[in-house]
Amino acid sequence: MNIYVPTLIYSEKDCVKKYGRIMSKTGRKALIVTGRNSSRANGSLDDVINALEENEGQYVIFDKVEENPSIETVMEARKLGIQEKVDYIIGVGGGSPIDAAKAIALMIGNPQCDESILWENTMRRYLPVVAVPTTAGTGTEVTPYSILTIHEKRTKKSISHRIYPVLALVDYKYLKTQSQEVLINTATDALAHLVESYLNTKADDLNKMYSEKGLKLFGEIKDKLKNPDEAVYMTLSNMAMIAGMAIAHTGTSLPHGLSYMLTYELGIPHGKACGLYLGGYMKMYGEKDKPAVDKVLEALGMESVEAFKGYLKELLGDVEVPEEIMKENAFGMMSNEDKLKNYPFEVKREELEGMM
Ligand code: NAP
Ligand code: ZN
Repeated sequence: MNIYVPTLIYSEKDCVKKYGRIMSKTGRKALIVTGRNSSRANGSLDDVINALEENEGQYVIFDKVEENPSIETVMEARKLGIQEKVDYIIGVGGGSPIDAAKAIALMIGNPQCDESILWENTMRRYLPVVAVPTTAGTGTEVTPYSILTIHEKRTKKSISHRIYPVLALVDYKYLKTQSQEVLINTATDALAHLVESYLNTKADDLNKMYSEKGLKLFGEIKDKLKNPDEAVYMTLSNMAMIAGMAIAHTGTSLPHGLSYMLTYELGIPHGKACGLYLGGYMKMYGEKDKPAVDKVLEALGMESVEAFKGYLKELLGDVEVPEEIMKENAFGMMSNEDKLKNYPFEVKREELEGMM
């Protein structure tokens, strides 16, 4: 058993202002990596800029990261970062900008290399990354993962380097501008992280302290996601971060592996795509290890797998996934060693085809 959480985390209101000095001392000049709009609307970008200016930090902004960031975007940002001689990256936004920030940090750290280094297994230099999350879902502020869209292969994949942010400034106040859809989809992503981490080959007594705690927190707010108040935002943000710590130790499993095709081919947002497979995963897992699934349900305050499935259906609404996509997805999954090894039992293609 081992535990590794190398990110310095401040999770509180106004933490960007309070700890701006620490952020600005990460380097001489920052590349701020963010999305197109939301970080302006929720105040996070202004908070970061003000904190840097108050501490005489230099910066340049790249604000073109799309949802499910692509390699092309990473390479475009790298160009700017190299031109501007930045020596650290600040990712501001949801999982997309922060994941992109990690990959950009690697590419700037290796200016002579092409994008193939994203997928190689050699140790590489990368610039330090600071994370300022504005969604409560991915937990990327504390995970080593960076998931990129590979248009050539019509899918998404985590880069092979493990890049933990050195600093995470987690302020739940940024969550308040989220649409109900973004809040629900991202919260479902965190729920998927907790379930897939608890019900995982790599789960052990030590790392289950994260997934168990996160599941309990989710249980506390599960019926308030459509009507959140201040306390719900705070719990959401800590729950998603703890879920990030859980998957940092175990990785994710079959629902995540299956979600990527739904996102790429049908445009279903990441968290929702995972959520669609989650009930089926619990059912399938429960047939092999009922006590483990019962523990998950107990922590969430739910009575049965059927109640869990009903809850997700109510939350996410009805989604039609064409049969040929379900089949192709299951077929592809059978050769996804990374995800299959996190499911402790043997699995058949037909089971995956019907996992929804
Ligand atoms: P996202 O793709 O970063 O953002 C989704 C949408 O929400 C965007 O339109 C964004 O707008 C908007 N948004 C973000 N913060 C907002 C706020 N506070 N108020 C209003 N709107 C806001 O969503 P995400 O679910 O956080 O990230 C998904 C990505 O993370 C996927 O690529 C997924 O594969 C990856 N992921 C990574 C990990 C990991 O450990 N690294 C784990 C799970 C998932 P703008 O575009 O204008 O910013
Ligand atoms: Zn996820």
